[in-house]
Amino acid sequence: MVELKNVTKVYENETHTTCALDDVNIKINKGEFVFIVGASGAGKSTFLKLLMREETPTKGTIIVKDYDLGKLSRRQIPYYRRTMGIVFQDFRLIPTMSVYDNVAFAMRVINTKEKVIRNRVPQVINMVGLKHKAHSMPNELSGGEQQRVALARALANNADIIIADEPTGNVDPQMSYEIVELLTKLNETGTTVIMVTHAHDLVRKFNHRVIILNNGKVVADGKIDKKGGRRRAAEKSAKKAEDEKAPADEEAVEPEDCALEEEQTPEPEGDAAPDGAKTNTEGGEGQ
Ligand code: ADP
Repeated sequence: MVELKNVTKVYENETHTTCALDDVNIKINKGEFVFIVGASGAGKSTFLKLLMREETPTKGTIIVKDYDLGKLSRRQIPYYRRTMGIVFQDFRLIPTMSVYDNVAFAMRVINTKEKVIRNRVPQVINMVGLKHKAHSMPNELSGGEQQRVALARALANNADIIIADEPTGNVDPQMSYEIVELLTKLNETGTTVIMVTHAHDLVRKFNHRVIILNNGKVVADGKIDKKGGRRRAAEKSAKKAEDEKAPADEEAVEPEDCALEEEQTPEPEGDAAPDGAKTNTEGGEGQ
């Protein structure tokens, strides 16, 4: 469903070159729930931006569903984005619209028929447990409730993949738990969920796959086993990597340069290889 193959992302400006992702390989299957964790500057937002096609990789390939993101034309991008539901830390609701209209608006902008909207909006509002608040305004809702509205909006257009960028970042712990519980329920109905989070306690409570990024690299990728041993080991090795490279208070980390250059085949010692000998073990070159 989602595949990153040897993806490197370098940001360049006049003074700085930053390697945000460094030769990352990730495969996420349809129906998976994946937490993406890592210190500030680890590359989490870059990963999401690449998935949303807000950025393009410097190197490598990204496939999402049937889309090769490197080959999407400018005109295809909005259609591609409509196939995914996106939830942000700061909810991004329209303050002058009711819960119902916030959700309906997401459908109206893509010219959905009013009849379909009238049917679908109550359905998704119900799914997130806010039937009784359909006509409330965002400022009448708690943070957790606002995030549920954002989730309903993400689901309104039948997205089969939800990308959530720190969805619990502005929500109290109990509500945070409920939001991840809700995402888990949606996941159980087949929706793929990719959630970036800093909330280690939540990650520990839910038995989902965890990908840990550090300095633009995947340093751990795994699911908890029954006793939690395997993931604890993965967390431990990631923590060690974070401790070595990142300040404990999660200040932004300055990533190292990417190894962008192709690896050189070592020069044979002494004389050059005999005529006709192949040093390229993958073969095929020049044929
Ligand atoms: P995270 O989301 O894990 O905090 P980011 O993906 O935002 O990490 O950032 C990874 C690295 O790339 C950081 O060093 C950050 O400063 C850098 N970076 C992110 N976006 C840009 C940009 N638009 N221009 C230059 N550097 C960037």
